[in-house]
Parts: sequence; structure tokens; C-alpha cells
Amino acid sequence: MRRVHTQALSELLFFGTVPGMNKDIRYYLQLWRKRFSQPRAVRWHDGWLENDYCPDCRYCCGPQDSPEPYPMALLPEQLRPQNCEDFYMADSHTAYLDQRGCKACGSSGCRLERRWRPLACGLFPIVPASNGLYLYKTCPAVLLLPLALWLDLGLAVARHLQTLSPKSRQHISLCLTPEKLADSFISLHTAL
Ligand code: SF4
Ligand code: SF4
Repeated sequence: MRRVHTQALSELLFFGTVPGMNKDIRYYLQLWRKRFSQPRAVRWHDGWLENDYCPDCRYCCGPQDSPEPYPMALLPEQLRPQNCEDFYMADSHTAYLDQRGCKACGSSGCRLERRWRPLACGLFPIVPASNGLYLYKTCPAVLLLPLALWLDLGLAVARHLQTLSPKSRQHISLCLTPEKLADSFISLHTAL
């Protein structure tokens, strides 16, 4: 299980409260370059993206800087009564996180066993959307590692997603406007 680096998390919480701070892509590039002076590894293993940046980042589990909720679909085998205790739920089979962060994110990181975490958590910063795969731009691993690596990882993720039923594949895929895709994502040119 990945763990939160508490200092890094508190910095993110702090940054999240600075009024008027310009959090465009250059803001994040500067932030991540300062925090990660050496490249770290990201690999696809056993149906999960293992990302060595995560323990000192946790940006995507904590409070989001966008007012829009970020949906994280659950697979049929993950539907259980305690989901409401673990997640903010948009409906009975879709968890989400927002400016409060993810309910499952505790002081030591994610408190859920991997099998109960939304599939999105094991794919991020690769995101299925609009019948393809995209990279979330502001993740440090995206900004600091070569695109060629992500294109290869995208193929591995696409192969994994092909093992899901078409219904589950559709359920986990985000509906994003072309403007949102252009603003926050990089296409991996990989069809689903
Ligand atoms: S933003 Fe990227 S590096 Fe940071 S926790 Fe999320 S996946 Fe890991
Ligand atoms: S379920 Fe766990 S890994 Fe996924 S967003 Fe929530 S805290 Fe992070």
C-alpha cells in the first residue's frame, strides 16, 4: 500500500488554500521539479500502475483544486454496503473525490485494500475517456518522465482494460468535453 508523506501532504493542503495562486501547468512543473530532483520509476505490475512518485506526492488522493467532482467508477464486484463509509458516492456504483479529497485517504495514505479501491486509482495518471486513453497533465510522473514511457504503459493498460466487459469498460470511462481534454489531458493515441 502506498503511504502519504505527511510533509508533502501538508504542503499540498497549504497550497490548496492560497487564494489566487496560479496553478497552471508551469506552477506544477516548478513544484514537482523542486520536490523530485531525481527521476523515479513507474511500472505496470499485476493490473496496477506502480508509481514511485506517489508516496511523496498523493496529489490525486487529497483535496482537489477543481470544484468539479472527479468520478471513480466501482466494478460490480466492488459494490458493498460500506462503500458509503469509504467514499463520497455519486450513485450506488460511482465513488468520487472533490475539494475534500477522497474519504478513504487517511493520515497514512489509502486505508483500503487494493481490491476495494476504484480501478481509476490503479490506472491514474492514465485515464480512460472518450473511447481512448489520456494522461492527466499535472501528475509529477507525467511532467517529469518521457512521453515514450507513457505510450508503452498505455498499451499495457489498454490490454488490461480489454479483459473487462464492455459495460464495465464504458462505466469506468470518463465523459469529458473536448475543451476539458485539451486543457487537462494528453492523448496517448490508444483506442479502447
Ligand atoms: S498525481 Fe501522480 S504521482 Fe501524484 S499521487 Fe497521483 S498518480 Fe501518484
Ligand atoms: S481510494 Fe485510496 S488510492 Fe483511491 S483516491 Fe481514494 S485514497 Fe486514493
